[in-house]
Amino acid sequence: MAFDFVIVGGGSAGCVLAARLSEDPAVKVCLLEAGGPPSDPDISDPAKWPLLQGRDIDWQFATMPQAGTAGRVHAWPRGHALGGSSNLHAMAHVRGHPLDFDGWAELGCTGWAYADLMPYFMKSETSPHGPSPYHGNSGPIRLMKPKNPHPITAAYMAAAEEQGLAPTDDHDGPVMAGPTLNALTIVGGKRQSVFDAYLRPITGRTNLSIRTGCLVDRVLIGKNGKATGVISVDGTAENTVHASSAVVLCGGVMASPAILLRSGLGNANELSALGIPAIADLPGVGENLHDHLLAGGNLYRSKRPVPPTQHQHSESLLYIAGQSADPRPSMALACVTVPVVTECFQAPPMGQAYTIMYGFTHPKSRGRLRFHSRDPRAKPLADPNYLSAPEDLTTYLEALTWARDIGAASSLDDWRDKEILPGPKVNSRAELESFLAQAAFTHHHPVGTCKMGQDELAVVGPDLAVKGISGLFVMDASIIPAITTGPINAAIVAMAERASHLLLKKAPLSSDDPRLHP
Ligand code: FAD
Repeated sequence: MAFDFVIVGGGSAGCVLAARLSEDPAVKVCLLEAGGPPSDPDISDPAKWPLLQGRDIDWQFATMPQAGTAGRVHAWPRGHALGGSSNLHAMAHVRGHPLDFDGWAELGCTGWAYADLMPYFMKSETSPHGPSPYHGNSGPIRLMKPKNPHPITAAYMAAAEEQGLAPTDDHDGPVMAGPTLNALTIVGGKRQSVFDAYLRPITGRTNLSIRTGCLVDRVLIGKNGKATGVISVDGTAENTVHASSAVVLCGGVMASPAILLRSGLGNANELSALGIPAIADLPGVGENLHDHLLAGGNLYRSKRPVPPTQHQHSESLLYIAGQSADPRPSMALACVTVPVVTECFQAPPMGQAYTIMYGFTHPKSRGRLRFHSRDPRAKPLADPNYLSAPEDLTTYLEALTWARDIGAASSLDDWRDKEILPGPKVNSRAELESFLAQAAFTHHHPVGTCKMGQDELAVVGPDLAVKGISGLFVMDASIIPAITTGPINAAIVAMAERASHLLLKKAPLSSDDPRLHP
């Protein structure tokens, strides 16, 4: 079959695009996914999400040793199956702050401001808050809010209020800051991955070919600078899939820049060092890598047994404005009803401790991917350059102070036996910085390696087309120019919804578009 669109990568963005582009039976779509079907039965159990890492549904990427975190190497899980990282993720659905997206538009990403994305957020979701001016009630992503929150979560939210943080009803409503229960992508007690939401119901479409086990090596680019298809590898054999309209890379933050590079699109020096014939000098490929950090411990021993989670261990996020001049919240806290520590510390057994995790929302540190081979099976190394910007450490320390203040508040008296980490003896700035270097871990939100924009490091423009090449687009976490305030999956889904309209050359939706309210 000849295809109009070839989509590379069946993760969060790829599933949305495959479903939306193939809605018209006349449009022929091929989705190529390196992993297999999401057949691991534990994927669907929300409480088991931390156990999925390190299995074959995880690419198991890693960072280079990070100077800012005591030289530690950080595991970076990414999904390796249809559904991509939405098979592994913690199911928290948060759009981000409106000014995150308005900031993108100011950077030259015309069409990606909050008002532009709002109809697509609404279109993508069935929200317990919908229908409302903020929320949809008929989209594929079905959201729930915990009806009977875990007792420690409830006490933690009261403790935050006690510290002067007014609660909010909804992180995705008019006010993001403040404690509230998370919207979760859990349906009937089971994880709903983006594959479950968008693709599983339509796998029988005859104009949609879904091929698993297809590791895409590179994009075929003609002498006229037009992408005409992709080459995947299977052992030593190469297979070509042709696209008459467009190739869309949805391989995620690690793979999309790697595929571009192997196709001859990247930093000219890097291409030359790897012996790859250059087609276009795109110095931004693999650059601008950044991520949210959390920290394991502010850890508390519990006075009494901690009941097991009814959901995914972490039912509440809390955004705090803090001392920053930025009107967006600068810190995120999460109450986790299990002990969470890094490899540097020992955790008490499950049921005997709980954790208040904390981090900063707008990292200034920027790193890059390091490519060391043109072999498609070789994994790039991530160098996020954690905590290289001094502002990040300052806000991290502020967030730790908030976590400790909330953890010590009287609303948690019934649960708190004692603080284990950082521990009562860790108080000076030097001690706290040293603790943070050992307690830091990824919030699993790396972005930015094929950034959208207009400057010299931009890889795609606001139309998502790779600069200088026709018929080649990128749509996944890699195009996010600056990370959103919260977790990023909701934004990626809404962006992919909008991308489907761009690729099909349809007029974009507005919030009062009748297509949103059929
Ligand atoms: P992915 O979903 O990673 O998809 C990329 C796909 O491309 C994968 O299926 C991959 O196998 C495939 N691929 C890669 N290379 C190739 C190739 N060469 N050929 C063919 N296919 C290829 N976000 C939230 O919003 N809330 C959370 O609670 C949350 N928790 C998280 C917890 C964990 C442990 C992780 C890992 C992530 C979490 N995230 C969370 C982040 C979120 O899941 C991801 O940012 C998002 O899924 C990324 O979407 P994507 O489309 O960019 O890439």
